[in-house]
This record gives sequence, structure tokens and C-alpha cells, in this order.
Amino acid sequence: MTDTPTQLFIGGAWVDAADGATMPVDDPATGEIIAHVADAGAKDAQRAEEAAVQAQEEWARTAPRVRSEILRRAYEIIVERTDELAHLMTAEMGKPLAEARGEVAYAAEFFRWFSEEAVRIEGGHGVLPDGRNRMLLSRRPVGPCLLITPWNFPLAMGTRKIGPAIAAGCTMILKPAPQTPLSSLALAAILKEAGLPDGVLNVVTTSRAGEVCEPLLRGGRIRKLSFTGSTNVGRLLLAQSAEAVVRTSMELGGNAPFVVFEDADLDKAVDGAMVAKMRNMGEACTAANRFFVHSSVAKEFGRRLAERMGALVVGPGTRDGVDVGPLIDRVGRAKVEELVADAVERGARVLVGGRTPEGPGCFYPPTVLTDVASDSRLMDTEIFGPVAAILTFDDEDEVIRRANDTPWGLVGYVFTEGLDRALRVSERLEVGMVGVNTGLVSNPAAPFGGVKQSGLGREGGRVGIDEFLEYQYLAVPVR
Ligand code: NAP
Repeated sequence: MTDTPTQLFIGGAWVDAADGATMPVDDPATGEIIAHVADAGAKDAQRAEEAAVQAQEEWARTAPRVRSEILRRAYEIIVERTDELAHLMTAEMGKPLAEARGEVAYAAEFFRWFSEEAVRIEGGHGVLPDGRNRMLLSRRPVGPCLLITPWNFPLAMGTRKIGPAIAAGCTMILKPAPQTPLSSLALAAILKEAGLPDGVLNVVTTSRAGEVCEPLLRGGRIRKLSFTGSTNVGRLLLAQSAEAVVRTSMELGGNAPFVVFEDADLDKAVDGAMVAKMRNMGEACTAANRFFVHSSVAKEFGRRLAERMGALVVGPGTRDGVDVGPLIDRVGRAKVEELVADAVERGARVLVGGRTPEGPGCFYPPTVLTDVASDSRLMDTEIFGPVAAILTFDDEDEVIRRANDTPWGLVGYVFTEGLDRALRVSERLEVGMVGVNTGLVSNPAAPFGGVKQSGLGREGGRVGIDEFLEYQYLAVPVR
């Protein structure tokens, strides 16, 4: 957007970092710097905290209908500005424009969904077992929140947290990833335009995450942390949250198994694989990381998948006809290269891709590996790139054991034409979500989240707002 803000958003005003620091934002397709944004430090975090704390009481008292209508207006503005927002996202993150437009729609839906939930926060009334005492239950906002988001879905990871926080009556500080601050700043401008009162949302862009977030978590005034990112950082933030007993929601990494049984419809399985693997260039927590394919269909599945992957057009996300944009940065690409090299060293065969192109930008080609050894590093590392690693299996119990043999448990995919088997296998997978004959599970109306080291809590769905609410119970004896 031509007039995208680049300053911090604190107390409803656009301000520079207290020490005047800025940081560059670059386009991963060219490596060129596209903007400089304010780089917040500890003082700015304090200012944002003060603004969020000051605004909390009045915001909690604001009528749910008012909160709902602000979200609804913001939803409409986002939809109207789909094209501008998509261009901004592509510029800072790299995804092809068509995918960026899809993310704008997905992101907006969280505001529409939570505008509808804001007016359906229910308490309760009950007669206690002694027949005399009454129980009145109300739901109250948990208080000022810290929201930390990753770079891979710059808009949707923000709205998935901001939507329920606004609906519940919480104020907040958003700290977006330093690679993709512009989408979050644009979102703050839209919420201001939609009538969000000053101080309810504060945005601190920073390259100094620890300096900004740790004092907030330890200080005792922030009551809730909602984090999306890697499991390692999540673990660190959980430890920091322990001191002031901050409530936490954690949307962490995944290592999704994608299981294709011998009775699967291979067309559906390959279509599903293209989505589960290639959405967002493979840079998604939901990305299929390990393809377990029954040995009787593995060769055919690999052939068809390699054909489809090989036909994808790689290039800058702004160019017409491009299916696959650049990876986020050179560090991300180097990790993908190392994982592929390690798998090949251990015997994997490259069916397509596998070679980094020359030239500017962080491009990596869609790649299919087959005969992948179980001890390859990519079996227990999120690949976060366009690489499909195929292993074979012969038996249902065996594949469930192997699929569950990981500390993560975000999502799994099961392809079979048998309803019994689909349910049986899904129920035995240690994951928070299962795609049954589909490669896409994300939907604002469904609870998104994982088990094991993939996280705590759920975002979206009817339960998404619960993460931002507390119960208060009133005991009332009736004589
Ligand atoms: P990341 O390195 O964990 O960073 C995520 C966010 O945490 C960034 O804003 C980052 O800022 C911040 N951060 C890092 N260290 C911090 C600290 N000490 N204190 C406060 N904030 C800190 O993850 P990423 O590379 O951006 O994103 C990829 C990861 O996110 C993958 O593991 C993916 O699976 C996961 N993810 C999960 C979901 C889900 O819903 N489960 C959705 C999307 C992504 P800095 O970069 O400045 O450190």
C-alpha cells in the first residue's frame, strides 16, 4: 500500500522508536529493501504496555455489540482492500499473489467469525447440590495480552489472535515477525479506521524480540501470551511466562504425516498432497512433512506427484502464472538445502527438483524425494520448504506407530476410501487435526491447534474466544 505506516502504533498514535532505531524490510524475491520500519526497544515496550493497561478497564466494559461492529467493519475494509493487502504481503513475504489474496480472505474471515462470537459470550446460573446456594457464572476478559506472530502468514496469524481478543474485551500488544511487519501495521491502520479505541491494539515492530517481550512477560501486568512460532521459542516463552503465571496459548511447529493407503483414490491423494505440501511454498506449520505411502501404490504416487510438482512455475510472486515464490530468506533456504543433501546422502532418490537455481532471490524448486531413509534429518525436522519426502509402509499398525513417533502433533492427513479405516486411523493419530482425503484443514470456524509439543490451546472455532476469557463465579446463598 502506498501509504502503509512504518512507525510503531501505540495508544492510537503512530510514533518512532524511542531511540529512533529503524530496521529494513526486504523483498525475498529480489533481496531489495522495500521499507524501513521502526525498531522498538525496551522503552517502547513499556509505552505499549502502559497504553494497553490503561485502556483495559473501559474496553472490558464496552458493549459486546460495539466490539462486534468494529470487527465487522474491519472485516469489510480488509475485503475491500484485498488487492492492496495482497501486494503488500507478497512484497514482504514472497508468496504468489493468488495465495496472498487467499490469505487476505482467510485473515478477514477471523474478524467476521469473531464479530459473530463477540455477542455470544455466555455465562451461567445454577442451583448448587445443597439446594440453597446459587452459582452465577460470568465470563470476563483475561486482561492485556501479548500476541507474537511468525512471518509465514503475516495477516492471518494476526487476525486469528486479534479477532478473539477484541471480541472478548482484551487489550493487546502485537509483536509481528521482523521479516513481515508491514501487513501488521496495515492491519492496525484498518482497525483504527474501523473505530477501535486508542490503546486497545498496540503494534511494536522490532528486531529485538527478547528485549521487548521478556520484561512484558515477567512484569506481571500482561495477563496472557498468545504465541505462534517454533517449538523452541515457544518453550523459552513458556519459561518466561511462568514467573508471573501468565496464561499462555501456544501454536507451535508440526511434523505432519501424510498417509496414503492402498485403497486410496490416487487422484485425490495427489491433489491433497499438492495442497498439504505446496500451500505457502511448504512454509506452513500444517505442511505435510513425511509422506507414508503404501508400498503397492508408492511408485505410482511418486510418479504422479513428481509430474505435478515439476510442472509448477517458480518465480517472483508478483509475476503472472507463478505458482511458487521464493522462500523467506537465505537462512531458510540453506536449511532446506541441507535437509535434502542429508536425505540424499542416506540413500534418497531425487525424482524432481533438488537443485538451487542461480541468481538473486531465495528460490528453491519443488522437489520430490523417494526411498527416504527413516533416520534422515528431515524426518524429525520441519522442512519448511517445497520438498516432499516419500517413505513406504506395508501395514496399518506399523504406519500409525511411525506417524506418531515424533514429539510434534499438529496435523495429519489420511487418504483411504474406507470410512472405517479413515475413522480408525484418525482416532489413533496423536494430532490435534486430521485431513481425511483432503490436504487443507484450516478454517476460521474450526478449532486449530496441536497436541504434544505442537502447542497448547486452540485458535478459531467456538472455543477460540475461550483463550481470552476467564470465569468468575459468584456464590449467592438464598434463604
Ligand atoms: P520463530 O522463530 O519461533 O518466531 C516466531 C515469532 O517469535 C517471531 O515474531 C519471532 O521474532 C518471535 N521470537 C523469537 N524469539 C523470541 C523471544 N526470545 N522473545 C519473543 N519473541 C521471540 O518462528 P518463525 O520462524 O517465525 O515461524 C515458523 C514457525 O512457526 C514454524 O515452526 C511453524 O511451524 C510455526 N507456526 C505454527 C503455526 C501454528 O498455528 N501452529 C502457524 C504458523 C507457524 P524474531 O524473528 O525477531 O525472533
